Amino acid sequence: MDQPFSAVTRRADLDTLADQACDLLVLGGGVTGAGIARDAAMRGIQTVLVDAGDFGHGTSSRSSCLVHGGLRYLEHGWLRLVFESSRERAVLLRIAPHLVHPAPFVFPVHRGSRVGRLTLDAGLWLYDVLSLFRNVGRHRSLDRRALLRLEPSLRDQGLLGGAVYYDAQCDDARLALATVRSAHHHGARVASYVAVIGFEKAGGRIRGARLEDRLGGARHTVHAHVIVNATGPWTDTVRRLDEPQAKPLLRPTKGAHVAVPRRRVGNTEAFTLTSPLDGRVMFVLPWGDLSVIGTTDTDVDEIQDEPLADSTDVAYLLRSANALFPGARLTFEDVVCAWAGLRPLLDAPGAKSAAAVPREHRIVEGPSGLLTIAGGKLTTYRSMAAEVVDSVARRLRALDGRRVPRRAPTDREPLPGGEVGDLELLARDLIDEGVDTGVAAALVRRYGTEAAAVANLVQREPSLAAPLVPGLPALAAEVVHQARREMAMTVDDVLVRRTPLFRSHPNQATDAAPAVALLLGRELGWDAAEAEAQVAAYRSAAERMRQAITPGTPV
Ligand SMILES: Cc1cc2nc3c(=O)[nH]c(=O)nc-3n(C[C@H](O)[C@H](O)[C@H](O)COP(=O)(O)OP(=O)(O)OC[C@H]3O[C@@H](n4cnc5c(N)ncnc54)[C@H](O)[C@@H]3O)c2cc1C
Repeated sequence: MDQPFSAVTRRADLDTLADQACDLLVLGGGVTGAGIARDAAMRGIQTVLVDAGDFGHGTSSRSSCLVHGGLRYLEHGWLRLVFESSRERAVLLRIAPHLVHPAPFVFPVHRGSRVGRLTLDAGLWLYDVLSLFRNVGRHRSLDRRALLRLEPSLRDQGLLGGAVYYDAQCDDARLALATVRSAHHHGARVASYVAVIGFEKAGGRIRGARLEDRLGGARHTVHAHVIVNATGPWTDTVRRLDEPQAKPLLRPTKGAHVAVPRRRVGNTEAFTLTSPLDGRVMFVLPWGDLSVIGTTDTDVDEIQDEPLADSTDVAYLLRSANALFPGARLTFEDVVCAWAGLRPLLDAPGAKSAAAVPREHRIVEGPSGLLTIAGGKLTTYRSMAAEVVDSVARRLRALDGRRVPRRAPTDREPLPGGEVGDLELLARDLIDEGVDTGVAAALVRRYGTEAAAVANLVQREPSLAAPLVPGLPALAAEVVHQARREMAMTVDDVLVRRTPLFRSHPNQATDAAPAVALLLGRELGWDAAEAEAQVAAYRSAAERMRQAITPGTPV
């Protein structure tokens, strides 16, 4: 499904907005909005999707990247959510095998841990039962010695034992992007960097929206039978464009992660842990040569466009990891990158802590007819989307009597690049064509079957085989591919979300920014001033990240 999805299709789709009304306008191209647009387009609903920034640039590129049943949710008794999430985990492993990978998780128990061995074992039985024993593997309990053999860098003092269970890790931003591309393939008109700035109403009912192109500055009005607000943490901000007095639906919290060199932590597998500092569940996840430690869960007063991890977040994460991996002795100097996202959690006035706020979702219809999807999580985006599109279908039927198909085959049709599940086979094909082994593995994990299209670009223009950062498996050809097939519009789109270089390079790959601007500029027709502005914007984002984590608290 290597279809063009680019600045050209963006322009063409925007040009149609004024004279071609749509059935459904989806606001927000995070994973939730992407899922809604895909499901709707597959059911034959004429759909438009816009996002104020890049697809997935909000929370959907700042998650812990777990496609998980939600072991932690068992503590709160959210069994339905665990059941649904386990089913969705199986679906995503099937439709996006290049982006979603099964992974074993080690859960150690130390003396005094909030979760004891018996509770853990009982919880993991229930976890297996709720997945109808169809998880990639069943959990197994480990005694202290077996656990230390498996993970020798773990603190042995007070270690009682633990367990290994299974979940999945994903590339969250690329999952959102692949879902948007699938929506486009099924006929949705799609544009990034287009924000809703107001609504058009007649007789108190919403009839359309005013949109602003944040790249070109043009304004568009689009008429739509139904509008869905899927703007994640910005849900209430967008609702207030329609209903200024609307009471908030959300209580967003901030979650931060840090990436540090894995050799310092020493973990082989992914870890689920309870922080020795406050008993919260956290993760230490292997990510190539790095370990990602997350996350925090703190209330926020303000919804920022670019939330940042601060030094308090980083100190908490490093201290928690140091307590469990005593050889790590992590300090601020070890931080390769730190980032934060806002959880679009439903407001639950009775909840004792941020962690106890339910991860479920609600579909709310405003007095003017604006449909809002609030809450949820990445893992369950597909089933949430189907529920929203059911509501849209009911509205369309009431409007003009049409019968929209009851279901779309979103659980069966692979996402772009996910047509072949055997990644080793795909990588071997590339290696046979002369691609370096490490590069082949990385390309297949980013693009799946479409990795061959990247290799073809190199064959046609051998200079595109150059790495963007010496020694790291990301090629110049990818920038061209991303411009032509993945609607990359900025340097940030390439280095932050379509490749992992911002987070995986100690200098945020700032030295690669000019080369990316050159390649992208060639595709998008930038002049020298635009290319320079792009590089400057990227460098300043890297600088803001560093400044925010300037040590304030000793670790
Ligand atoms: C730290 C952290 C860890 C997490 N870990 C996990 C995990 O491991 N597994 C899991 O299942 N879930 C996880 N989650 C939850 C999950 O990431 C979110 O539920 C999910 O990504 C939300 O997606 P969304 O599309 O609703 O919101 P977003 O991804 O934020 O998308 C909303 C979009 O709306 C756009 N927008 C805003 N205003 C406008 C406007 N005016 N006009 C047009 N567009 C607009 C934004 O640009 C944005 O792209 C985590 C969340 C956080 C914060």
